[in-house]
Amino acid sequence: MAVSKRIVLHFPRRLVDQPIVSRLVKDYNLDFNILKAFFTPDEEGLMVLEISGEQKDYDKGIRYLTETGVRIQSLSQDVTRNEERCTHCGACISICPPHAFKLDLVTRRVNFDDEKCLACGLCIKACPPRAMELHF
Ligand code: SF4
Ligand code: SF4
Repeated sequence: MAVSKRIVLHFPRRLVDQPIVSRLVKDYNLDFNILKAFFTPDEEGLMVLEISGEQKDYDKGIRYLTETGVRIQSLSQDVTRNEERCTHCGACISICPPHAFKLDLVTRRVNFDDEKCLACGLCIKACPPRAMELHF
């Protein structure tokens, strides 16, 4: 059965310059499309991929990535902001790879554009009042 899935890959610093993803084509017979790629401030690599191929090849490819040390996250996870908790401190602005947070210079409030969010989870740890929430 053929599948096509969107996932987020988190690369630890030691793997950032390794040709890991290209092996999905060569060794696992999968096609991939890089939708977005970022480096986070602590130099973790973050890549949003669309992978397609046969289910058995997909499963093997995912196992290979995991064994290599790549953390894989499904894009079906959802990150939301609890508006009552947000203090508009701005701690999330610089750490969000796709720039989903923006300071409104007039109101001094931090706006959150959930359409840009990749559900990478970085803002969850960084938000002092724990206003950002991950839903599975
Ligand atoms: S870090 Fe948390 S509290 Fe501060 S602006 Fe961002 S979401 Fe709001
Ligand atoms: S989870 Fe947070 S840091 Fe990651 S993309 Fe979404 S808003 Fe930005």
